Amino acid sequence: MPNSEQQAPGGSDSFDVIVIGGGPAGYPAAIRAAQNQLRVACIDEWKNRDGSATFGGTCLNAGCIPSKALLESTELYHRAREEFATHGIGVAGVTLDLAQMQKRKAGVVKAMTGGILALFKSAGVIPLQGHGKLLAGRRVQFSAHDGTRRELTARHVVLASGSTPIELRSAPFQAPQVVDSWGALEFDAVPKRLGVIGAGVIGLELGSVWRRLGSEVTVLEALPDFLAIADQQLAKEALRHLKRQGLDIRLGAKVTGATVGGGAVEVVYADAKGEQRVTVDRLVVAVGRKPFTRELLAADTGVELDERGFIKVDHSCRTGAESVWAVGDCVRGPMLAHKGKEEGVMVADLIAGRYGEVNYKVIPSVIYTAPEIAWVGLTEEQVKASGRAYKTGTFPFLASGRARAMEQAAGFAKIIAARDDDEILGVHIVGPMAGELIAEAVLAMEYSASTEDLQRTIHAHPTLAEAVHEAALNADKRAIDSINR
Ligand code: FAD
Ligand code: AMP
Repeated sequence: MPNSEQQAPGGSDSFDVIVIGGGPAGYPAAIRAAQNQLRVACIDEWKNRDGSATFGGTCLNAGCIPSKALLESTELYHRAREEFATHGIGVAGVTLDLAQMQKRKAGVVKAMTGGILALFKSAGVIPLQGHGKLLAGRRVQFSAHDGTRRELTARHVVLASGSTPIELRSAPFQAPQVVDSWGALEFDAVPKRLGVIGAGVIGLELGSVWRRLGSEVTVLEALPDFLAIADQQLAKEALRHLKRQGLDIRLGAKVTGATVGGGAVEVVYADAKGEQRVTVDRLVVAVGRKPFTRELLAADTGVELDERGFIKVDHSCRTGAESVWAVGDCVRGPMLAHKGKEEGVMVADLIAGRYGEVNYKVIPSVIYTAPEIAWVGLTEEQVKASGRAYKTGTFPFLASGRARAMEQAAGFAKIIAARDDDEILGVHIVGPMAGELIAEAVLAMEYSASTEDLQRTIHAHPTLAEAVHEAALNADKRAIDSINR
């Protein structure tokens, strides 16, 4: 395990680039900077609950990767119990071994986090495990996990300190009953009754995991609209399917209190009818995340925070202090791993005098429920509000041969394009593998493609991707495999 003794070749404590934070924003910044022939160190303080220190940040240790591992396992379990019979496959006595499921998840996480050290080694990045604090003049105080402390200097510093879960004053964390998303990924027994506060991406994914394993799941969402940030036609379709799976999603339900007692939690919330109560065995608070900058900045660095605690940056992720940059969840923009990664890569290229830019208009969003929910670009509501004349095309997966063959024909693909020049403005998919299908739309939009460009692109048959092709055709009422409406 690397420690404070590990130094750059030659033993110097001065670097071209020091990255503070080794999550999906920080570690790609470090790797790209090293690829650009710069001397780089990446400092990360993450510690797992067993005390082990690993790179990868929230995403690899407690977010994207463990949640997707459990979503995969639980979906297989659900299918074996509920769907295999339709395929003519009898599987008598399907059982759940949650300890094994969690062990597999831990193995996936370990392989991925260990992989970062291998990537660092190959690229020549110096890993430093412990706390980093920016001092004035691009000096960095590094406090290793073993208690030793030293001062490093750099020509450039990249801050990538990430985010932490928001705690509700009305429902403070109180393990094991009231937990954050990390706690909800670690349950060692399936809760009989599970409450989830917040029907955002994380709440829906965690609710799905435990619902598939048998929990009675109640999701309380303060806003009256489901997935208010998404295209509402998409959100409506997704809500229908999630409710059908047994998720009890209560909208316009603002949690005002939670009391732990007798091993259970009584949750109080207000809806249109007044004060309501629901009792659950475990409660997950998934009401969003906030930037994490504790002990990151000395008082005189010149780096400023905004009113919500995000590090202030310009379009290219420059802070107000010379040669200090900030990327990922600790700065404005969607809190997504791939957004942070592209910012990290951009900054590392700019530092090396190369070209670098992030196209913030074309960042895909994916919710890994079943069916998956994915989109990129503007929603129909946003296009309508802009006043620009537009057209839409949709294609239901019911008309897709591949989706039918997979017995996963729920949902649709929808494309929104400008009436005048046919440019694609947004693509919204709810359906099987939507998170993979959206990549084509992202590429199309990155190249400012028109629906005609997609219409004239050959898509293999039978594939799910044909849904995007046919939605593009339907925008001009020229779909072949569905009725043009
Ligand atoms: P982080 O991943 O939070 O990493 C920051 C790192 O910096 C941490 O290791 C932290 O310990 C370290 N650090 C902070 N301060 C210091 C310091 N002073 N010194 C040393 N080290 C420091 N996003 C997706 O795109 N797709 C998903 O499917 C997805 N699923 C998610 C599921 C869950 C349950 C959660 C919680 C999040 C999910 N996210 C997902 C969001 C994603 O995890 C974040 O957007 C991403 O991790 C942000 O990356 P980051 O590098 O900015 O910060
Ligand atoms: P996200 O920001 O995508 O993680 O989603 C968090 C969700 O939690 C948002 O949809 C919020 O409206 C919701 N939320 C925040 N506070 C409360 C609360 N007190 N009760 C219920 N829902 C809440």
